[in-house]
Amino acid sequence: MKLTNLPEQFKLALPIIETIRAAGYEAYFVGGSVRDTILEKPIHDVDIASSAYPAEVKEIFNRTVDTGIEHGTVMVLDHGTGYEVTTFRTESGYQDYRRPDKVVFVRSLKDDLKRRDFTINALAMDDHGDITDLFGGLTDLTNKVIKAVGDPNERFHEDALRMMRAVRFSSQLNFSIETNTKLAIKDHAQLLEKIALERIHEEFIKLMLGQAAANGLAQLIETNLFQYLPGLSDSATVLSQLSQNDIALNNEAQVWSLLAITIGINDQQVAKWLRRWKTSNKIINDVEVTVKLLNKIQSATVWDIYQAGTIGVENAIAVANITQPKRDFEQLRQKLHQLPITNKKDLVVTGKDLMEQKVVTPGPQLGNLLTFLEQQVVNGQIPNQQEALINASKEYMEINN
Ligand code: ATP
Ligand code: MG
Repeated sequence: MKLTNLPEQFKLALPIIETIRAAGYEAYFVGGSVRDTILEKPIHDVDIASSAYPAEVKEIFNRTVDTGIEHGTVMVLDHGTGYEVTTFRTESGYQDYRRPDKVVFVRSLKDDLKRRDFTINALAMDDHGDITDLFGGLTDLTNKVIKAVGDPNERFHEDALRMMRAVRFSSQLNFSIETNTKLAIKDHAQLLEKIALERIHEEFIKLMLGQAAANGLAQLIETNLFQYLPGLSDSATVLSQLSQNDIALNNEAQVWSLLAITIGINDQQVAKWLRRWKTSNKIINDVEVTVKLLNKIQSATVWDIYQAGTIGVENAIAVANITQPKRDFEQLRQKLHQLPITNKKDLVVTGKDLMEQKVVTPGPQLGNLLTFLEQQVVNGQIPNQQEALINASKEYMEINN
């Protein structure tokens, strides 16, 4: 196969490949960018593999950075863009089911492609667009199949993360997993326990955000991989039901919010549940706000919507569209846009103003008063204007003092 009309990112990187070749070595584009170009999908980063050893790559180019030199990766800087050039290598060892004990640099493209995870990821493209396909990756792309390179049992035994990657690609690409590859995942699912949670996390989120997330989730259950995912292992039935829906999500907070609602985790329980996944505090916070709103989405008041804010409302709508597809949640968005203020700081009167005007003295009453004003303004009972707020404050203090 020969690709014509290469995407811009490849064209920009062509001089790197040409320069390596002019120095007498082989160089190819490899990995996801080749796969995605054949699938006519947009690409992000282009990876280059070469027969040149790292020291040789550094000789060829003036400006390089040792980004991962022990694994054979040197970054070549070209007009402000960095290109990762990785020496062809083989891997062996894998005592710990995740990282090879030994990386050996080799001169053969075939050996390098052989160590790659799936046939669709084991394609190489030269500077003329000619594809090298030694493991049937092109046929698998046509048939929409994720298939391990070589013996799947060995490959998952070497690196258990590949099992998550298989399911993740099946979600992102809407591919099925080849029978023997899937059987091997079922047989080795437990090895996922050996893998750092951060790496599982990354694959899981990519899976849930993929175009065929429901398919990915179904595969996760079918292969038993879900059993090794913190906080999800007891929820096969509800997760299975969820996978019958069309899952379309845009960000990580939506992923966790959907799962929380599905499993029955409330906003108070979210933090504990997500800490096991080492999720960031920002995400935890967004999920709490979203789940809180989701749990009363049918009867949400203006105050609930205000508290959820734009992030909470948008995330809750995305999730509710999945769990309650027949309902229309547009009115939540409308109410959000009609809010007189979106934040306490938008009040035109501050605590300082109220003290200067001698409406209130410092202390707990001040906090109560400000919350009262905030609620009244949000609910449209008082306009967000100086005079109205001061007057309302005076009345409030008379009643509550
Ligand atoms: P993405 O679009 O997510 O970047 P990708 O296929 O480029 O997908 P990367 O993680 O960027 O995935 O890896 C680049 C390439 O390196 C893969 O296409 C594959 O050939 C190889 N690779 C990555 N991780 C593994 C692994 N765990 N085992 C074997 N090969 C791998
Ligand atoms: Mg990539």
